[in-house]
Amino acid sequence: MYDSLKEIEDLFALEDARLLALSDETRRKYLGDGVFLRGIIEFSNICDKRCAYCGISADNPGIERYHLSEEEVLKAVDHIASCDIKTVVLQSGETDSLDAEWLARIIKRIKDAHDMAVTVSVGEKSFETYKKWKDAGADRYLLKIETTDPEIYAGLHPGMSLDNRKRCLSDLKNLGYETGSGTLIGLPGQTLSDIAADIKYFNDSDFEMIGTGPFIPHLNTPLQYAKAGDVALVLRTIAVTRIVMKTVNMPATTAIGSLDRDFRDEALKWGANVLMPNFTPLPYKQLYDIYPGKRCITEPAGACAGCMEHLAAGAGRIIDRGRGNKAKRMKDEG
Ligand code: SAH
Repeated sequence: MYDSLKEIEDLFALEDARLLALSDETRRKYLGDGVFLRGIIEFSNICDKRCAYCGISADNPGIERYHLSEEEVLKAVDHIASCDIKTVVLQSGETDSLDAEWLARIIKRIKDAHDMAVTVSVGEKSFETYKKWKDAGADRYLLKIETTDPEIYAGLHPGMSLDNRKRCLSDLKNLGYETGSGTLIGLPGQTLSDIAADIKYFNDSDFEMIGTGPFIPHLNTPLQYAKAGDVALVLRTIAVTRIVMKTVNMPATTAIGSLDRDFRDEALKWGANVLMPNFTPLPYKQLYDIYPGKRCITEPAGACAGCMEHLAAGAGRIIDRGRGNKAKRMKDEG
């Protein structure tokens, strides 16, 4: 069910109350009330890419660049472990200058010291590099496709190719990573059919995690005057993704927490089941400036960990302290 583009488009035609009820029913049936936590460390904002929406693009000379040392990363990981969180996400800009051995060593040291899942999110790399990190113990990888529409993709990503991004995602799946992708909602020119096609691609690819967030225009980018993504459409996209993909893990993204108000509780109600408290140490946290208005960037690292119970409770849910691997689902279960 919901395998075809037409069926997914039809879900987008449902009125809010019906869509919310269907998504909520699916979430309850397949996942229950638990919300998983992932502590994120943004270990570097150095980037070679020029994505038109992103504030840490190589084309933005206005920001100070940083790169945490191995010991700084491991200290932040200890902090996450001390908060009883069992996943760390290591994220950065995408750069050829990233030392793959350095990251492999960190992954191994984390796996040796903690009972923790490690998620990597550092962009497009070769099969060999992804394998090196998998062999070092990495469990999951996040690489959003951002949009599967070839024209929109090409317009936003100079010097990059949609085919290579898909190659990366397929390599990651083949290497046995729990693989995460996702869409930016509200990109200029993006239609409902485009978003439905993104969800079909995610479902066909059987990804374990999907991150859906609003596009938020950043002052120092070519898209500074573009309109921000509509929060209602983000919530509807989360709901449709839940209904189609059932057990997939979906964060209430920081971006959806960074609009005029924090909509992460709404995202949980519409089908999300993951929260990602930020453990990037100050002052670096402020320099990972991918979009403006990012939540809690002046708070010390890990301050958000305490807010998570509250946020989940606001959506009638509870924090699950487990690792939060993707729940299994038999293909014929519906
Ligand atoms: N370099 C890594 C991590 C990128 S930052 C990679 O390429 O995967 C993580 C996510 O931030 C991106 O996938 C993108 O979806 C999101 N992002 C970037 N700029 C944004 C903006 N202006 N508004 C909302 N989200 C944005």
